[in-house]
Amino acid sequence: MKVAIDPGHGMSNRRRGVYDSGATHVEDGTKYEEAAIVLKYGLTLKDVFRAQGHAVFMTRDDPEDHAPVGERARNAKNSGAQVFISLHLNDFDDDTANGLEVLYRGNDDKVLAQKLQDALLAVTNFKDRKIKRRDDLAVLKFDGVAVLIELGFIAHDSNRAVLLNPQKRQEICETIANVVLRHFET
Ligand SMILES: [Zn+2]
Repeated sequence: MKVAIDPGHGMSNRRRGVYDSGATHVEDGTKYEEAAIVLKYGLTLKDVFRAQGHAVFMTRDDPEDHAPVGERARNAKNSGAQVFISLHLNDFDDDTANGLEVLYRGNDDKVLAQKLQDALLAVTNFKDRKIKRRDDLAVLKFDGVAVLIELGFIAHDSNRAVLLNPQKRQEICETIANVVLRHFET
């Protein structure tokens, strides 16, 4: 199958020529950016799907790739992808907010969203923030099954530590790929 992977934010996301870093957090002089972290997840997830013989469309491959938010779903559809997976980190004023949630648009997406939520909670041990219905998100206007995974909170120390761990990133990406592939198995 062909899978569209959408690492959130990045170059020209909201405004042409302007880099959108997404949520940011500074800890001990180091600045963490959602756009950079989810790009690593996207590229790892791409490798996992490809290693299993599946095609991948990336809405963006690197920090310079122009990827206006309003064009991502259409570009993914034009690529022939059957499913759209958007990757984000969450943020909130309160740095104690934490946990994982999968956003979905409608009933066609809800089953996959719940499967991803359950499997990712098992691999991360993050707090269950439940799946959430959002029919207003541009990227979820993809013509086909689409989900947006908020992997965890960038400002939450233990969420961030887990998400920055390369071994965990590999496990999380393998989990996402396995759930998606099993969901579409006929
Ligand atoms: Zn985001």
